[in-house]
Amino acid sequence: MNADLHCHSDVSDGTLSPEELALRAHQNGVDIWSLTDHDVIGGQARAQTAAHELGMRYIPGVEISVTWLGQTLHIVGLGFDPLHPILVSGLQTIRLGRNQRGQEIAEQLLQAGIPGAFAGARKHAVNPDLLSRTHFARYLVEQKICRSTDEVFKNFLVEGKPGYVDHVWATLAQSVEWILGAGGVAVIAHPGRYRLSDLQKNELYRQFKEAGGHGIEVITGSHTPKQYDEYAKVAKAFGFYASRGSDFHDPQESHIDLGKLPLLPSSLQPIWSLLH
Ligand code: AMP
Ligand code: MN
Ligand code: MN
Ligand code: MN
Repeated sequence: MNADLHCHSDVSDGTLSPEELALRAHQNGVDIWSLTDHDVIGGQARAQTAAHELGMRYIPGVEISVTWLGQTLHIVGLGFDPLHPILVSGLQTIRLGRNQRGQEIAEQLLQAGIPGAFAGARKHAVNPDLLSRTHFARYLVEQKICRSTDEVFKNFLVEGKPGYVDHVWATLAQSVEWILGAGGVAVIAHPGRYRLSDLQKNELYRQFKEAGGHGIEVITGSHTPKQYDEYAKVAKAFGFYASRGSDFHDPQESHIDLGKLPLLPSSLQPIWSLLH
């Protein structure tokens, strides 16, 4: 089964519309698709309609920003009711600080000799409610300060570099509560990306499971092949369902296209077996 349950449209920090993504997923052979924009579900109805018109199965999705042990983690929600007020209002609360954070990012970039970043990033943000660091990264590429967004995230916008602003998102428990409250299942996104010790990761899995979380991403565009094996083992050890998703944002920026990852190992329970 070619499931791609993680990607971004221009409703958050992707560059394609939900309709363009649906078509691309379908053309790449995706059987089950989910659009998982950051902290926003405004693209869900469009994604679902476009997917169904193409005869592709659709699962509602979102990627929620969470602060845990002072770090930003991402929790993916799948298969929820996109109109449920607990999720709609929860996501709204964490979106609110983004413009203020954007002003502070721009202020730091100005100190570093880069003017105009707030307006410049806003121009890249199709949805004014979702100003992301990715939009700043695109502005820095446009201004020829960096050659790629990858290069931006090595020199700017990350801890210890100009343009990094500490931000508090949802708690781990809140993210799971909103997703489950809206009838969905919760998945830890790209666990291989977090700078946590093994002990801290085990504590994350334990707390996530205790909160009612269901799964982890094993096959993702953010993992190396070695990490596919590592997190397949974690899924088995903790009894997690496994997910697969490209984390596609843009044809030029993303290294992995929609639907183009290796399949989930057959020894794992796919998260979509929980969703009907
Ligand atoms: P935000 O939610 O505004 O903090 O933006 C986070 C987004 O920036 C992520 O979803 C990625 O799309 C992008 N991003 C963050 N860190 C990196 C990185 N190291 N390399 C590439 N993209 C990154
Ligand atoms: Mn992103
Ligand atoms: Mn993420
Ligand atoms: Mn993502």
